[in-house]
Amino acid sequence: MKIAFFGAEGKAGSAVAARLVAAGHEVRGIELGDRPDVAGCDAAVDFTTPAAAPANVRAALEQGASCVVGTTGWDPTELGTLAQEKGLRLFVAPNFSTGAVLMMRFAREAAEHFPRAEIVELHNEAKHDAPSGTAKATAELIGGSTQVHSVRLPGLVAHQEVIFGSEGQLLTIRHDTTGRESFADGVLLALEKLPELPPGLTVGLETLLS
Ligand code: NAP
Repeated sequence: MKIAFFGAEGKAGSAVAARLVAAGHEVRGIELGDRPDVAGCDAAVDFTTPAAAPANVRAALEQGASCVVGTTGWDPTELGTLAQEKGLRLFVAPNFSTGAVLMMRFAREAAEHFPRAEIVELHNEAKHDAPSGTAKATAELIGGSTQVHSVRLPGLVAHQEVIFGSEGQLLTIRHDTTGRESFADGVLLALEKLPELPPGLTVGLETLLS
């Protein structure tokens, strides 16, 4: 596929773009200040900032390209409606790492057996939004009033613990992303499945994993 890639030089973007090229895709990087020109591309990918992503996605949809978005901290609902009107797909995932999605699935199962849980999410200090999209999505899955604690420090990549507590026992489910190339598996899967998705907004890698 020919893929327009917003933020291809960022930390996540550069790791994912390299894997897309290695998988045989042609990648056109679009950086801050470039014209958002996706003409001739089959799809667009965005790993930028919560401030930049809505305009990038709107520009791609207006030009007829379906989008796969990793940028967190923004609400894609309105652009999902635009995608639907145009018969295009907008796929957004707070976490493209398969291990993180499994962590969320296991947390949902554990929540059926434990009365209380708290989430600790730890990310590199450069991450702008807090709590992370993954932590918010996990808290929603668990339900109740699950408290989220956010840590931002140099040296961290992306990590999350879900700690369940009941009388006399604790259960901790932890996922560690040690390299940003892990996000490429989910992006490749989303690009492959895009044509099978219904037009409009689809959220979460779990919707693509059997
Ligand atoms: P980053 O290193 O700061 O990368 C962001 C990149 O976007 C930078 O190269 C930046 O350029 C560029 N950019 C900013 N505005 C732009 C615009 N209008 N058009 C095109 N490019 C633009 O940040 P990151 O760590 O890679 O994270 C990027 C986003 O992805 C964040 O929202 C993060 O939470 C999210 N993320 C999601 C996942 C997931 O699995 N869903 C995984 C990792 C990260 P400049 O440096 O010139 O400003």
